[in-house]
Amino acid sequence: MSLPLTVDVTLPDGTKIEQPTGLFINNEFVKSKNGNTIDSINPSTGEVNASVYAAEDEDVTIAVNAAKTAFKSWKKSTGVERGILLNKIADKLEEQRDYFGSIEAWDSGKTKEQNAVYDIDECVSCFRYYAGWADKITGKVIQNDPKKLAYTVHEPLGIIGQIVPWNYPLAMAAWKLAPALAAGNVIVLKTSEITPLSLLHVAKLFKEVGFPPGVVNIISGYGKTAGTALCVNPDVAKIAFTGSTATGKLISKAASDTMKAVTLECGGKSPLIIRADADLDQAVKWAAIGIMSNQGQICTATSRIYVQETIYEKFLDLLSKHVKEDYKQGTMFEEDAVVGPQVSEQQRDKVLNYIDIGKKEGARVVLGGEANTEGDLSKGFFIKPTIFADVKPNMRIVQEEIFGPVVSVGKFSTDEEALELANNVSYGLGSAIFTKDLVVAHTMASEIEAGMVWINSSNDSDVHIPFGGVKLSGVGRELGEYGLTMYTQPKAIHVNLGNVL
Ligand code: NAD
Repeated sequence: MSLPLTVDVTLPDGTKIEQPTGLFINNEFVKSKNGNTIDSINPSTGEVNASVYAAEDEDVTIAVNAAKTAFKSWKKSTGVERGILLNKIADKLEEQRDYFGSIEAWDSGKTKEQNAVYDIDECVSCFRYYAGWADKITGKVIQNDPKKLAYTVHEPLGIIGQIVPWNYPLAMAAWKLAPALAAGNVIVLKTSEITPLSLLHVAKLFKEVGFPPGVVNIISGYGKTAGTALCVNPDVAKIAFTGSTATGKLISKAASDTMKAVTLECGGKSPLIIRADADLDQAVKWAAIGIMSNQGQICTATSRIYVQETIYEKFLDLLSKHVKEDYKQGTMFEEDAVVGPQVSEQQRDKVLNYIDIGKKEGARVVLGGEANTEGDLSKGFFIKPTIFADVKPNMRIVQEEIFGPVVSVGKFSTDEEALELANNVSYGLGSAIFTKDLVVAHTMASEIEAGMVWINSSNDSDVHIPFGGVKLSGVGRELGEYGLTMYTQPKAIHVNLGNVL
């Protein structure tokens, strides 16, 4: 029996939704050509939340063709028109913050009140910020020779393929959709097969506020099939990807035959350094935020903490007490729950395997170190917030991205040693330094191999400020003006004013 294009669902908090199941192409929900579907699983219960149609090669071609047709007129839209539409998306999300917060929580396992609703705020800020840019994209006049006028115009690239992960389904999409649209591009966005539900509700908004058909197409589908099809499609000008480093490498290769522009926001293993002169209460608070928020499923999670030896044991005591008291674990719709389930059974097992590896490698378990199977939580994919201490630089739990609520803590004696430890991984996304010494803070910031440095905070993301990594954490930047430039290309126009030659 074929799946209907919408299903009625009442969420655990009583929110009634009509869940779209189709591929959003040309402002309509359609079935996939071969009828294949994806089951989306509830992380708290392991049950199916809903099924959706999964795009394959032919569907991707249809979506790309819809975008191609739309681009012909969309590229002639004015910046003011695009800004107005983007602001309308922000308005809709703001008005329905609670509704979208419920859907995002249900889809991804984020606890609604302490986590998911803030992602909706992030989307609102992002759409507003880039709405403001839409009519301010300008080129330059370049004057060298008085007999020649040269100028640049910053044009959209055309069709952008966007591929997003499951840890921030709506926010990672907003980071990509908003700047690409502000710059006048058209889009085919593929959601993660793990969290395909919430973005289909956002898809409806694009039609509601008046985006022309084909400008934004949102499809569910698996990476190997739909994702690859986007990467090799010759009409797609650019791939913007957020996800694991392993997939980032595959995408780079797949996109190379057609010489697409590629931006990659990949994995991380970000260090957080705490000097003895730091405000310890602040350091403890941010250290917990940096790894326990979103169940540790944050690319920039500060998952390696290095503490100066004189305050090492004190810090461990304080961190463990703070996490125990203030990071309550629970299901998505428990109001005071902070740490929800991992997104999937596979992720839960991956994180548990790393916990096992850490124990075998000889790290000391200070907190947690196991699945949480208390009461109803046994049905879901819960892992207790875990703190490992006494870690050594080459342990796998120090080198590899775990992507769960698991932090490794080690000690250092000198600043040089702290920097050496911090830079001793293949990733380079975020980094944090806690100290009251401004000179040391800025010197360390310049020495650290990372795309972002937080001085006396952690994971302080801001739509105005560029986000991205170095080394195996990625290529290119999102957010801020830099994020916008990733969606334009300069065209140089030379005007001969003096019959030169
Ligand atoms: P993933 O790489 O498994 O999947 C990400 C997306 O890529 C999904 O939509 C998936 O379907 C698609 N995909 C998978 N294989 C593909 C292929 N061969 N071709 C094209 N597309 C393909 O990552 P995930 O498990 O969804 O997300 C977790 C990872 O994302 C972590 O490593 C995390 O660090 C990273 N991440 C990075 C950032 C950042 O900005 N740097 C932000 C969030 C998450």
